[in-house]
Amino acid sequence: MASTNPIRSIVIAGGGTAGWMAAAALVRRFERHPITITVVESSAIGTVGVGEATVPGIRDFFRDIGTSGAEVMQATNGTVKLGIQFDGWRHEGHRFFHPFGLYGAPSRGVQFHQYWLKMRAAGRETPLADYCLCTALAEANLFMPPPEAPQGDLGVFDWAVHFDASLFARFLAARAKAAGVAHIDAKIEGVRLDGESGNIAALTLEGGRTIEGDLFIDCTGFRSLLIGQTLGVPYLDWTAILPCDRAVAMPCSRSGPLTPYTRSTALQAGWQWRIPLQNRVGNGYVYASRHISDDEAVATLRTRLEGEALAEPNLIRFTTGKRTQVWAKNCVALGLAAGFLEPLESTSITLIQTGIERLIDFFPDRHFDPALGEEYNRIATQEYERIRDFLLLHYWANGRRGEPMWDAVRAQGLPEPLSRKIRLWSARGRFVRYLWESFADPSWLSLYVGLDVIPEHYDPLGDFFSEDDLDTAFAKMREAIARAKALAMPHEEFIAAHCRAQI
Ligand SMILES: Cc1cc2nc3c(=O)[nH]c(=O)nc-3n(C[C@H](O)[C@H](O)[C@H](O)COP(=O)(O)OP(=O)(O)OC[C@H]3O[C@@H](n4cnc5c(N)ncnc54)[C@H](O)[C@@H]3O)c2cc1C
Repeated sequence: MASTNPIRSIVIAGGGTAGWMAAAALVRRFERHPITITVVESSAIGTVGVGEATVPGIRDFFRDIGTSGAEVMQATNGTVKLGIQFDGWRHEGHRFFHPFGLYGAPSRGVQFHQYWLKMRAAGRETPLADYCLCTALAEANLFMPPPEAPQGDLGVFDWAVHFDASLFARFLAARAKAAGVAHIDAKIEGVRLDGESGNIAALTLEGGRTIEGDLFIDCTGFRSLLIGQTLGVPYLDWTAILPCDRAVAMPCSRSGPLTPYTRSTALQAGWQWRIPLQNRVGNGYVYASRHISDDEAVATLRTRLEGEALAEPNLIRFTTGKRTQVWAKNCVALGLAAGFLEPLESTSITLIQTGIERLIDFFPDRHFDPALGEEYNRIATQEYERIRDFLLLHYWANGRRGEPMWDAVRAQGLPEPLSRKIRLWSARGRFVRYLWESFADPSWLSLYVGLDVIPEHYDPLGDFFSEDDLDTAFAKMREAIARAKALAMPHEEFIAAHCRAQI
């Protein structure tokens, strides 16, 4: 039976990436439903203005709102992202790649990496990266769309995009408004609660206007105006687990080829991102304020820019963590209003996306059955914790010695779910997969091996093949990758042919 109390109006507070992603997705999903959607944002307050790297799932979002990666890239100076190059995390001068792709081919039900570990133990090691097409393409600055029906695991890879975050929000806003979303540019000065239910009844805007609604989505960024400030939902602070709490961002002009990957370079008190766009390079230093001053961080970033600085430094403070509930009463928080995990694996936008998808899955009526919110919150907490632990692995397994931040994070205790994962991996090269993980086994593999966390033993089933058998098979895999790679084109040419910015 259809609900007799359907939601009639959705009010989205905030028009950054989160607000406009929610508007664009909901208006499309509730096409032909009698639901009004209104975005209230204040151009005087502005958006956080960073958030330029994504993960492949973003392309599902593009599809869901009726667009494509190429169209988004044209509108946002976008480029391809095949993964992340980690520079200096094991030690100065060492690099490895976290690809959006698989490694090698499994055989007889045994994962490829077990055979690789066997060869390594026998002293016949070849770089793990040699068995990943995605890494091979990225490191040669090449790209091609992944084959739709790959013949085997060797051909499997995926891609995401880098984009200009403000242009992305503008692109989404144009689509959402064209589809019927109302837009109000005004400061929210107050929030009125319903005396009986405690639900949010209306937003009060500057000038006294009020906007009533059934469902409110808090996308007001770090201010967390609705769920935090008004409903008083506490913030779970994870600063003791992940050390960084500030960032400085500064774009510059590009020198060198258009790389199809994000670079993350470990520095004395954090790490630096490099995100190539068509017209500039986004750079930032994410750091722990206990270990470096803002002035030093800005100065470090300035000296490391590859080209002319294109803006003044943008300093951002953050507290790693999340709201204990991201759905409370008739309010759902998305984006920075819900929580923030530092951008080491570009996961904030994906959390916005999964938050929207889940809201659609659990879409309430005006009774707001608590069971819906409880399940939404349970899943969100697990999702955040799983990402937090993956990020923590990067820090905990670092090999930088003699730098206080890195020494301290290496020495700290780990949350039990992560500790269990590492124990299983170290014992036998096995992965533990929990529910609501954002990162699959190949991601964990690239990080473990990249950071030199190597298991003591490999799977005994790996002994089916002799070392010579494996040597021959591995050579064939490398040849297959080389053949596939030869079909790709320079990333820059791909962008020029398919995604040239329309500016
Ligand atoms: C240093 C850094 C790097 C990042 N890098 C990445 C990355 O590479 N990849 C990734 O996925 N994510 C990244 N993120 C996260 C990403 O930037 C955010 O998740 C994303 O931009 C969403 O922000 P938001 O829309 O929640 O908030 P904001 O962009 O802050 O928008 C808040 C909105 O609320 C409105 N608002 C606030 N108060 C009021 C009020 N009183 N009245 C009216 N309107 C109001 C503002 O006008 C604005 O429109 C990064 C974040 C940081 C801090």
